[in-house]
Formats: sequence, C-alpha cells, structure tokens
Amino acid sequence: MSDNQLRLVWIYPDLLSTYGDQGNALVVERRARQRGLDVARLDVRSDQPIPTSGDIYLIGGGEDRPQRLAAERLRRDGHLHRAVENGAIVFSVCAGYQILGHEFINDLGQREPGLGLLDVVSVRGEGERCVGDVLADIDPQLGLPQLTGFENHQGVTHLGATARPFARTLIGKGNGTGDGTEGAYNGTVFGTYMHGPVLARNPQIADLLLKLALDVNALPPIDDRWYEALRTERIAAAQQPA
Ligand code: GLN
Repeated sequence: MSDNQLRLVWIYPDLLSTYGDQGNALVVERRARQRGLDVARLDVRSDQPIPTSGDIYLIGGGEDRPQRLAAERLRRDGHLHRAVENGAIVFSVCAGYQILGHEFINDLGQREPGLGLLDVVSVRGEGERCVGDVLADIDPQLGLPQLTGFENHQGVTHLGATARPFARTLIGKGNGTGDGTEGAYNGTVFGTYMHGPVLARNPQIADLLLKLALDVNALPPIDDRWYEALRTERIAAAQQPA
C-alpha cells in the first residue's frame, strides 16, 4: 500500500456484475473506511486499461458471452499479471473465477484460454446447473468461519496440483467435481463460486483481503451485528430441505 491509501479495483463492472457482485466492492470499501483507511476505488470498464498499482482487485460473475469478452480483454490487457507479480490480492467470483484459471468453455462451446493466475481448469458440467444455497468449511489455514453463499453455474472446475481448495462444501456443489471442494486459491489470488454477494454474507473474507493488503495479522473490530444476523438467516436457509 502506498501513501496510506488502499487502492481497490473493481474489474469490468460493464461485463461482470450480473449477480450483485458490486456488493463485494462496497463491503471492502466500507470495512476499510471503518478502520480509518483512505480508500481509492477504481471501477475499470472493459474498454479501459487495468491499473497495475492496485492493492485489491475484485472480479464478479457473468453470463457466458460477457465472460468470453472479459477474458479476451483481460488477456490482451495483460496488466493483472503484473499486479499479482507486484503482490496484489485478487478475489474473483464464478465467471471471474473461471477466467483466472487456465481455461474454460465459452458461449460458443470452445475452450477459451484464461489468465492462468489460478491453477484450475473449468469445463462445462454435463449434469444439472448448480443452483442454490451453499454452506462450506473454509480451508483451516485461512482461519475463517464457515462460508455461506449462493451458487449459480454450469461450469465445473478442476484444481491443479498447486491450487488449494478455498473451502469444503457441507451443502451445495461448489466446484461441481463431486470431491466436495469449493473455489480455489494460489497465494493471494482467490476464486469462489459464491454469489450473494459473498463478502456481504462473509465479511471476515473481506477482512482477510484487507489484512493481506495491509500486511497485518489483525484489524480493529467493528460492529458486525447486522452481518451476523444475515449469516445466521442464510445458514438456516441453506439447511432447509430442498
Ligand atoms: N457462465 C459461467 C457458468 O455458468 C459462470 C456463471 C456465473 O458467473 N454465475 O459456469
């Protein structure tokens, strides 16, 4: 972080914000400000260059065609790689998660190269679309409470040898591979299938991103009663029989 200012970059809101993932940017921004940080939020449209000086980058979900366009433009841009090499943190959801992997199946049914920032490959699931509430245990190494979220995807994501599963599902499909994994991470690059928006439902993940950006182990506590009420409600909803 430079000049005591947190630079938060929301990538391609014009293509990848179909399922309310803008909420993730709002939550990170607000939780940073509540800790007294100066935040510069940069919403970068797909016809603009990605800045390399961001601290935290967020990428949301999207439908199949915008997902292909976003992948093409991010590959051509090339700056996200440089940002990650500089130590930036990236948090991606669903279509964004697939784009960060090595490849996914696009709207034309073809293999589309991703950015290779996550060691994952996504294919088109042959079964029913994965839709519904999810409850999952986050990787114990990350020290976070249970993940709640909502998934809506056809893609199935296989993890390569170097990617760690972000979480293990108790309810829901997650990566859709049948091995109980949900999402993935490599270093400071994270991917999840959770919408919701996921950081509104799991503010501790937003705090993890902030701690990584600030290089600290703890942040001043803030009043999380509303978040906790929402989490309790959504965990109960996930546990309802379908
Ligand atoms: N198009 C992708 C899929 O269905 C991603 C969908 C999404 O972002 N919700 O797998």
